[in-house]
Amino acid sequence: MHFILNYIYCTLKKTKKTKPNMKKLLFLTFILSLVACDKSSVAQIENSIELTTSSLTYENNITSLPLNFECSSDWKITTTDNWITIDPSSGNASVKTATISAEIYSETADRTTTLNIICGDISKEISIIQKGVIENIQRKDGDVEIIKESSKAIPFNIVVLGDGFTKEDNVKGGSFEKEADKILEFLFSASPFENYKEYYNVYYVYAHSKESGADMSPGKNTKNTAFNSTFGYGGIDRLLVVQNTAKLNLYVKKATQKPNLKIVVVNSNKYGGSGGGMAVASTNSMSNLIALHEIGHVFTLGDEYADEQYRKTYNITLEMAKKVPNVDITNDLKEIKWKHFIGLEGYEAEGAYEGGYYFEKGVWRPQSGGMMRNYKPASFNAISRETIAKIIIKNAGEEYNFEEFLKKDKSHHISKSLSLSPIELDAFPMPVPLEYYYKKAK
Ligand SMILES: [Zn+2]
Repeated sequence: MHFILNYIYCTLKKTKKTKPNMKKLLFLTFILSLVACDKSSVAQIENSIELTTSSLTYENNITSLPLNFECSSDWKITTTDNWITIDPSSGNASVKTATISAEIYSETADRTTTLNIICGDISKEISIIQKGVIENIQRKDGDVEIIKESSKAIPFNIVVLGDGFTKEDNVKGGSFEKEADKILEFLFSASPFENYKEYYNVYYVYAHSKESGADMSPGKNTKNTAFNSTFGYGGIDRLLVVQNTAKLNLYVKKATQKPNLKIVVVNSNKYGGSGGGMAVASTNSMSNLIALHEIGHVFTLGDEYADEQYRKTYNITLEMAKKVPNVDITNDLKEIKWKHFIGLEGYEAEGAYEGGYYFEKGVWRPQSGGMMRNYKPASFNAISRETIAKIIIKNAGEEYNFEEFLKKDKSHHISKSLSLSPIELDAFPMPVPLEYYYKKAK
């Protein structure tokens, strides 16, 4: 059947200038068994190349990769660069793999070329990338690298440090840099931080730890690390804190005398973090979220969840709640601290929801859920975004303007890198109400 249709098709193609009529078609079908479509036009129709990939990337320690494809007829693969060899470089439809080999390469810059796979009269391109060698650039303990420079006269200084990273982990392109890059990517894709990129200076400060990891309990010094970080602070398993904050601050000062935001990455896959005066996160990918919540506190935001026990223990008062920008002690939308967002297009989620700043009653928050409450959604509400933006802008000596803020705030919906599945979110514990730890340690 396939053959018959093919035949009709190629015949029609040959006669496409005249209108086909049914009689002619039937006739043509009939003579099918007598006369076949000539070879070249069959090839024109049937030739196809199926590729599983459009590019091959050679990491520096890899020199051979298979190229899988399907070509319906005789094929060949060509390239203009002699550092590539192709085996076999031609074949028929039954051969579906060729090995593409790249010569060993010792330069640092990546090199690229193109392969052409020709199948009958059609061809497709495959791009080849061979990675350069990673320079084994060692860092000395206390070295500072400027990652990003602000275009502002007075920048917002972000300092990223690592704990539990050894000398080997601290080489250029090593695990500390990879983890620090990940944290920054996460931070800078969250609103409002993504809208103020030109304000940031970013520094990495390298601290060599004798051992990888972190302590699992404050009393047990099991890992010898630069800043002596530990999980399990205050009996809370996921509460990961820097114990030697004095040493940490000395390292921060190697980068800048005026740090605006200190971020510490602790080299452990175990889920955990903490913050307030600084944001601490382990290398567990979910820890980034807790770090962002803690960064919220660095920007004066308060917790939006209720915790009556905590409130009583630490004698939290309504007067204290009054000073927090993202909660209020009134639910009057004409008076509430975020009244200027109420009724604006795109800000429909903003309102007054009872419960916040550890109070179950008598304190209201702007959204039902959110970054400072329960990560549902994992984004900051409008007044929180504005509070953060104001701090960044005023730090640069600039005047804050609400209209300008709104223009930049258009894309305030949940940041891509923050989207977690409902299952992940359900498994996610509440933020830890222990920001006081760093207030004490300051
Ligand atoms: Zn908190």
